[in-house]
Amino acid sequence: MYRSKRKGRNTYEIFTPEMGDVVMKRVEIDNKLRHALEDGDFYLKYQALMDSQTQSIIGAEALIRWDDEELGEVSPEEFVPLAEESGLIVEIGDWVLDTALANVKKWREQTEHKDFYIAINLSSRQFRGKDIIKNISDVLKKHELPGSCLELEITERLLMKDVPHVVYLLEQFKDMGIRLSIDDFGTGYSSLSYLKRFPFDVLKIDKSFISGIGEDLDDSALCEAIIAMAHSLGLSIIGEGVENKEQFEFLDQRGVETIQGYYISEPMVDEEFMKFIAISEWIETTV
Ligand code: C2E
Ligand code: CA
Ligand code: CA
Repeated sequence: MYRSKRKGRNTYEIFTPEMGDVVMKRVEIDNKLRHALEDGDFYLKYQALMDSQTQSIIGAEALIRWDDEELGEVSPEEFVPLAEESGLIVEIGDWVLDTALANVKKWREQTEHKDFYIAINLSSRQFRGKDIIKNISDVLKKHELPGSCLELEITERLLMKDVPHVVYLLEQFKDMGIRLSIDDFGTGYSSLSYLKRFPFDVLKIDKSFISGIGEDLDDSALCEAIIAMAHSLGLSIIGEGVENKEQFEFLDQRGVETIQGYYISEPMVDEEFMKFIAISEWIETTV
């Protein structure tokens, strides 16, 4: 049903026996997701965002994890789309925001990183929910944090419908001091007009292009073109999925401001991440 709905009205799907297993797995995950929030089975990992010039850690992206008793660790690539279809992503998203901001508050207080910020992935269902502005503003107030501690990552897909309303919402976020970044740039429709029409601050080059740097001439050329274009539009850039020195140097030499990927750090749980910031602080001040 969800698949037909996604394709639009007046469509139907032929149900084949082969689809049975897939459907069962989805129904199982769907049921479990409903209980996972109450049971506390979600947790967050944080992946460092490094300033390529100063090499200091300036923020982190919050990445959700789900550890189910029977299924084990389920990848967000598998469960986030399901939670989005059922609408549960709205509650899950609220939990992510609240949990991540509580940690940012702690890190700002307990480390030297007073401007530390967190990047959160916003799903389209969440974004289109009626209370998104109030929700975010309430959570910021609850943790006594300014909007500048938050960066919202939005994918191109979210921008396609109802442009005036989307622009209105994005402008409200901006007024709150929140930064806006366009995630997975290059994988979707990547229309240049998006970049002009919407008030983005940051562009994230998708890791599928970064992984080709040094190996695939087209990918290197694409990265180069995206960087030049983003900069000429006044956007700051995050290179994500940076795994080695060559990719880092390529991006750094072309003025990419922020680096994220296994080369800097893997996503880590709260306490581990706090230690990581402390160590990087120590290196910064002593080396
Ligand atoms: P994304 O937003 O593009 O997140 C980046 C993904 O790349 C993460 O996968 C991260 O673990 C992975 N990654 C980071 N560095 C490297 C690297 O150097 N190499 C490679 N190959 N991969 C790297 P993850 O954590 O499995 O998340 C997958 C997707 O799930 C995310 O993609 C995002 O779309 C979604 N997601 C994760 N957390 C949330 C959330 O809280 N809310 C929503 N709505 N979606 C989320
Ligand atoms: Ca992201
Ligand atoms: Ca991404």
